[in-house]
Amino acid sequence: MIDDTWARFKCCALPTCGWAYYDTTKSRTKRWCSMRTCGARSKARRYYERPR
Ligand SMILES: [Zn+2]
Repeated sequence: MIDDTWARFKCCALPTCGWAYYDTTKSRTKRWCSMRTCGARSKARRYYERPR
């Protein structure tokens, strides 16, 4: 039986973070160690980089 525990270990999508996290979502679509910090930061960054 293949244990997918290690497959759920990911690295944060934010390069400046570098944290490893455990994806607990069923779809494994989580990209950041924390949606509130890195997720929000990534989204805010995207917003501010957007040209007028
Ligand atoms: Zn992070």
